[in-house]
Amino acid sequence: MCSFIMEELTKIKQEVERAKIELAILYEISNAMRTTLKLDEILYIILTGVTAHMGLGFNRAILFLVNERDGLIEGKMAIGPKNGEEASRIWTRVEQEQMDLDDLINAYKVSKDVTESGFNQQVRTLKIPIREKNGGLLALGVLDGMPLHLTRETIQNYSLDPIIQILKTNELIVVPLKAKDKVNGIILADNFITKKSITKDDIRMLIMLANQAGLAIENSQLYEKTVIRAHTDTLTDLYNHGHFHYLLHTELDKAKANSSPVSLIMLDIDNFKIYNDTLGHQAGDRILKTLALLLKNQSRKMDYVCRYGGEEFTIILPQTNKKEAFLIAERLRTDIEKQAFINEEILPNKKLTASIGLSSFSEDGSTPSELIAHSDRALYEAKHKGKNNTCG
Ligand code: GH3
Ligand code: MG
Ligand code: MG
Repeated sequence: MCSFIMEELTKIKQEVERAKIELAILYEISNAMRTTLKLDEILYIILTGVTAHMGLGFNRAILFLVNERDGLIEGKMAIGPKNGEEASRIWTRVEQEQMDLDDLINAYKVSKDVTESGFNQQVRTLKIPIREKNGGLLALGVLDGMPLHLTRETIQNYSLDPIIQILKTNELIVVPLKAKDKVNGIILADNFITKKSITKDDIRMLIMLANQAGLAIENSQLYEKTVIRAHTDTLTDLYNHGHFHYLLHTELDKAKANSSPVSLIMLDIDNFKIYNDTLGHQAGDRILKTLALLLKNQSRKMDYVCRYGGEEFTIILPQTNKKEAFLIAERLRTDIEKQAFINEEILPNKKLTASIGLSSFSEDGSTPSELIAHSDRALYEAKHKGKNNTCG
């Protein structure tokens, strides 16, 4: 066979080999993306695919997500060493331990170490407005929806861009992520340690990965929204009855495991039937919304404010004993008393008030149902004492 044909054959064979490897890499990454619906895990899998040696092999990658509501593009996660020293430490470890993509991903699910790196934390503070004029590199990526390869020459035109200033890189690839033709994120990748040029093949692979990544991100965001909706009461935006039971169960388990207290507030509006009968249920609903907001604003960050049902609310107070819970409950009760609710003068005391029943683990019970029953009885007692009262 003539040498020309031999050469051509070898070339084709090499190309087939490369295509096989590329396909295997993309297949592995897309399989990994299907193992979870948690957004942070999806982002980590994408970035691991972009940076791992047995993946696309970039030195460093950053993922931004579009926040359509606020018109921003926000830094979400970054993977990559800070400098050459850190790079050789990490890369040697990965090589010595023969960690493949699966191992890297599983390591994250267990420890989430990557989120502690300074680079990642710096990236997470980035929020860049999406606008046509002076929006910079990322806004351009979102608005254009096209990949952008900044070479050693063209990158000079962006030297003042905040991203380029942070990355201090001399070659970069910017790839938009899309779901149904809409850009929902951006990946940046570079080789700032090895200085290896970004090839056409690198770019092609990254674009193929980005097409899958955009869809996986959208699915996960939809899933997370659905989960939140399933836990939320539609009128008040508080946790609903079902989620309250789940939370109480979980917090009690934690309290038992750590030998710490947990308390439960049950709150019921006084004479609410009169308010509804006089002004109608829509007016009553507005009160429920206002009260829910007050409870949420006046509670601590760690507390879970829930709508138990009708005009009854519960608040789970983790790591809080009876004495502390009593002070919190009384503060809430007086906050309600002080708040000017619309048309409250039609109520018997001319003021909208609430009664509260309290229980604490372990003195009042050690199961969710024992605590609920105790709070219920205490609430009844508070009503019996003349309402606008806290009993425990
Ligand atoms: P008490 O002081 O003893 O609690 O008297 P009350 O009138 O508040 O009686 P109760 O706690 O039994 O409250 C039931 C009333 O709450 C009935 C209904 O008018 C009102 N209510 C319950 N759920 C809702 C709701 O989702 N929307 C509105 N607008 N009102 C509700
Ligand atoms: Mg009631
Ligand atoms: Mg009531």
